[in-house]
Amino acid sequence: MISALYLHIPFCHAKCAYCDFDSRALCGAALEDAAARYLDGLLARIDAFGAAGALAGVRTAYVGGGTPTVLGPRLAGLVRRVRSWCDPLELTCEANPESFDDAMAAALAEAGATRVSLGVQTLEPAELAAIGRIHSAEQALAAVARGRAAGLDVSCDLMCGLPGQTRGSWQRTLGGIAAAVPDHVSVYPLTLEEGTPLARRAADVPALEPDADFQAWCMEEARRALGAAGYRPYEVASYARPGHACAHNIAYWTGESYLGLGRSAAGMLAAGEWDGLAALLGGEPSGAGTARVRYVQVDDAGTRFDVERLTVREAVAEDLMLGMRMTRGVGPELLGRARAAAGEKNVDAAVDGALSRGLAAWDADGRLVPTERGWLLGNELYGLMWDLAADD
Ligand code: SF4
Repeated sequence: MISALYLHIPFCHAKCAYCDFDSRALCGAALEDAAARYLDGLLARIDAFGAAGALAGVRTAYVGGGTPTVLGPRLAGLVRRVRSWCDPLELTCEANPESFDDAMAAALAEAGATRVSLGVQTLEPAELAAIGRIHSAEQALAAVARGRAAGLDVSCDLMCGLPGQTRGSWQRTLGGIAAAVPDHVSVYPLTLEEGTPLARRAADVPALEPDADFQAWCMEEARRALGAAGYRPYEVASYARPGHACAHNIAYWTGESYLGLGRSAAGMLAAGEWDGLAALLGGEPSGAGTARVRYVQVDDAGTRFDVERLTVREAVAEDLMLGMRMTRGVGPELLGRARAAAGEKNVDAAVDGALSRGLAAWDADGRLVPTERGWLLGNELYGLMWDLAADD
C-alpha cells in the first residue's frame, strides 16, 4: 500500500548560496509561464496515478521543492487536486517566509493543507545574507505566526555552521524560534555542496568551511534548548511538540512505500507496487530478486527515471539504518526480518558492535535505540547497519 506522496516544485525566487537542490530561480512572467506548464504536467500525472488506484491509501502528502509557495494561488489548486484522490491525515507544503503571506496561509488551510514547513534557517540578518536567503528574521517570525493563525501545524528548518555563526547567535536563533512556538523544528548542519557559490567562496576563504566540532555543539545545544522549551527529539534532526511529529518523514524512516511525482522527486515502492505502476514509471519491470525499487524522476514530464533495485537483504539493512535515525529505534519485528534476510550471526554482530561502542542500547520494550553517543556519531551507527546489506 502506498501510504505517502511527495510532489516536487522545482522553482524558487532566488538561488541560495549553499543550495544544490533541483530548483530554477525565476520571477515574473518567466516564472508564470514555466510554473503553468510544469503544473499542467504534474496535475496530469496526479490524475493518472489516481485513476490507476495508486493514491487511495495515501495517509501523508508533502509538497516540497524548491519553494512551492512561489506558485501563488496555484498551490492551493494543487492541494485540492491531491485531496480529490485521497484523504491524507497530514498534508504539508514547504514555504519560504517571503512568499507565505496571509492569503497563501488562508488558501492552503482552506484547500486542505494541514502543515507548513518554513525555511527559516537563522534569525540573524548577517547569516541570512551570507547564505543568500531573501527573507528577513521578521518575515520568518511573522510567517510562523501566520501559519499558526491559519490553523496549520508549523515547522521551521534551522541550519548550523553558517558563515559568521557563533555560539551566541545560534542560541539567539534557538531562543527566538522557541518563543514563536512552532509545532516542529528541524535542525540541519550546513554542508558545502560542490559547485555552489558558497563552496566556491570557501575555496578562497577557509573560515567559511563549517566546523564539525562547532556544528556538533550546535546540535547538542539545540537538543538542550528545544528540550527545555517542550520539544521532544524523535529523529536525529527533528523536534516536535507532543503529537506534532511529521508523519510523512516517519514514513520515509520506517520503510513505508512512497510515491514521488515531479522533476527530481524520489519514490520507493515494493517490487509488486512498482510492477503494477510500471506503465506510468518508465515501463521497466522490477526484475527477479528485487524486493524494493527506489527511483528519481529526472525530467519534467515523468518519462525518465533513475532506478535502483534493492534485494530483501538490502531493503532490510536500509530499514535498520533509517530506523536508527529515530529516537524510538528499531523493534523486535524488524530485527527478526533482518535476521531472516541477512543471517542471525551477522545481525547479532552488528547489534553487539553498536552496543559495545556505546552507540545503541536496549530499551524496556526490547527495542534497539540510539544512545546520545549514537546520535552524535550517527554515521558510525548507520554504517554498522548498512554493512548488513553486503552478501557474506
Ligand atoms: S529556497 Fe530552498 S530550494 Fe530554493 S534555492 Fe534556497 S535552499 Fe534551494
